[in-house]
Amino acid sequence: MKPGQQDHSNKLDLTHCDREQIQFAGAIQPHGALLMLDEPDLRILQASANTESLLGFPPEALHQASIGILLGDEVSETLRARLASQNISGVLAHLMTVRLPGRDDSFHLFANRIDGLLLLEFERIDEEARSHASDLYQDVHASIQALQASQSLQGFFDLTVERIRRLTGFDRVMVYRFDPDGSGEVIAESVGSDRETYLGLHYPAADIPEPARRLFSLSWVRHLPDVDYVPVPLVPELNPLTARPPDLSYSFLRSVSLMYSGYLRNMGVKATLVTTLLKDGHLWGLISCMHHEGPKYLPYESRVAVEFLAHMVSLLMGSKTAEEHDGYRLTLSAARAHHLKAMLGSATSRQGLMDAPPDLLSPLDAGGAALLTEDGLTLFGVTPAERDVRALADWLAAREDPLFVTHRLPADYPPAAAFGEIASGLLAVRLSCDGPDSLMWFRPEWLQSVNWAGDPRKPVEIDADGDVIRLMPRTSFALWKETVPGQSRPWLDCEIEHASELRVGIIESIIVHTERLRRLNSELVESNLELDTFAYAASHDLKEPLRGIHNFVQFLQEEEGGQLSEQSQRRLATILRLTCRMDDLIESLLQYSRVGRIDLDLRPVDLNDVLAQMLESLQLQPPSGSVRVRVLGRLPVTHCDRVRVTEILGNLISNAIKYNERADKLIEVGCDSELDPPVFFVRDNGIGIAPKHFARIFQIFRRLHGREEYGGGTGAGLTITKKAIERHGGHIWLESVPGEGSIFRFTLAPKSRPA
Ligand code: ADP
Repeated sequence: MKPGQQDHSNKLDLTHCDREQIQFAGAIQPHGALLMLDEPDLRILQASANTESLLGFPPEALHQASIGILLGDEVSETLRARLASQNISGVLAHLMTVRLPGRDDSFHLFANRIDGLLLLEFERIDEEARSHASDLYQDVHASIQALQASQSLQGFFDLTVERIRRLTGFDRVMVYRFDPDGSGEVIAESVGSDRETYLGLHYPAADIPEPARRLFSLSWVRHLPDVDYVPVPLVPELNPLTARPPDLSYSFLRSVSLMYSGYLRNMGVKATLVTTLLKDGHLWGLISCMHHEGPKYLPYESRVAVEFLAHMVSLLMGSKTAEEHDGYRLTLSAARAHHLKAMLGSATSRQGLMDAPPDLLSPLDAGGAALLTEDGLTLFGVTPAERDVRALADWLAAREDPLFVTHRLPADYPPAAAFGEIASGLLAVRLSCDGPDSLMWFRPEWLQSVNWAGDPRKPVEIDADGDVIRLMPRTSFALWKETVPGQSRPWLDCEIEHASELRVGIIESIIVHTERLRRLNSELVESNLELDTFAYAASHDLKEPLRGIHNFVQFLQEEEGGQLSEQSQRRLATILRLTCRMDDLIESLLQYSRVGRIDLDLRPVDLNDVLAQMLESLQLQPPSGSVRVRVLGRLPVTHCDRVRVTEILGNLISNAIKYNERADKLIEVGCDSELDPPVFFVRDNGIGIAPKHFARIFQIFRRLHGREEYGGGTGAGLTITKKAIERHGGHIWLESVPGEGSIFRFTLAPKSRPA
């Protein structure tokens, strides 16, 4: 390939225009004349080549001359005064109208100061347009009133294009809105019925390249009266002061890019007028007027009217856009109020959210929703699979921002490509700062059939002609249908607002619930303590009279026993037995209340030692007769109260021996240390317990057997064990098969929280 020549497969598109510095065009359109001057002398440094026909002097005659040569002394002085009083930087200002000495016609005179140079532009006054200025005013006034009264946003834009078409007489007027990616869409159009409509067409971003976009935001109105004009060069070409072409960013006569005029020619356009629409100070879109019939020049007076209307449209647009979604916003806020009320009235925020009359999905316009809390995941409507939602929630949890909004989820989170049809759009809020708890809404893929005005992937055709590469704007203007995969309809501001406000409401309700729970808990702790204190005092006080009864009965038996009948002696023996049993019961109650009252002495304890000592005291150091106690592996060193844990293990092991009728009793003790928290267990091959009794055996003084069976007992052992375990933050549960054996499992700490 020759230098400079490009491969056809290369992506060459209108972004080439991005590099074309159209503000340094070095030429103007012929419907006016341009002078570049220095200040303060007002010496003419450059003039457009058409000054002779318009202003009466050829450019060579003006070169280095003072402006007085053209305007005469009096008008020159007025000009100087205006230049001193008016802001002409960063704007093209209409300074005055002038009549040149010895000529019949008058001119509008515009000025701009840029790069230390003064730019003056002359446009011949159209006397007829001038005479209709008051009609124009009436027209603009009536248009603004009608625009203010329009009910919908679409109606507003429809009216805009219709009014501007009537005001200007162009064949076609369109409102063109930019999308965030730079492409755009024709959202309103007024055009004669005999012409093809462009309404709904999408334009690739390259159609309005960056330099053009910059110039659009610098000046409100751009006018090209004749696409086929012959550019008028500046004489001399380079500015003598700066040695380069002057910056014509603000010039209304500036020659347009060749790409632009070629592009218009392809569309059969002969003249254009483009004004800017700004929203919150940013370029939002354009009002584009096109003429197909032939060249069309719009005089200054009419351009001012269009500019004024464009300003009004820009101003009114913001409030019209907000009004457009007012109804929807109200519905969302009513649903939110319902949710919040239900949450506060329910036992938990989650319950409230699930039970509220509009479910979490409606009325928000989404295909599905998901609520993930530590109690579980609930899905509404059409959503990705549970596994995918959880993985997505984990991914969201790693992000800092509690709000995540996208209408291109597969681009942000590639695994979503697998379920893009259901969820190309995601609106999600996090409900906790350290976990995946979240609320999400999914929006299905918007397989939008976008009407592209030309192929956006191949906007420019390249014609390699020998060494010359010609860039040609697209020659075909047929509809180009492009589906946009992996995207959903974007979320509206009011929807995003709804999600974040609902999030704040949920978090507030969680705080209210937590506070309520904390209060109840502390009340419960207090009343438990009171109960324990009462039980302790009562049992303690009961012990003394009981001891008295016991002693006196014993005296009676020893001293008077011989004189009593056999029946009375039996009765005395029963009283003694009952006092012993009552003493056992009171002792159990004392122990039970003690576990609730005393503070735990928590420290690292080697449970292997505890177990060894305990077995020794039980004289069951294995192997011991028909009872074998086997320790499976090593028990972990555990943060706990040594005395309480000794009681816990002692109780479970002695039960395991007691409730066992086998000749070879086997008890196994161990721990699943890899679990969080570690789970201890005591397994036996005893009589077992029917599942229906699982809850009962932990109730105080409840036994499953006769008073004297299996060595007797008060039925308080497991109650005390359970209480001691719960005071450590753990819990106890069992599995058992009657006739085969039981396994009691317990933990000594709550589940640790994620970091
Ligand atoms: P106690 O042993 O004093 O009766 P516990 O509170 O220790 O009181 O036990 C309550 C009841 O649970 C016992 O009466 C017994 O019926 C049943 N039980 C406890 N441990 C076992 C076990 N390892 N195997 C079968 N039954 C048991």
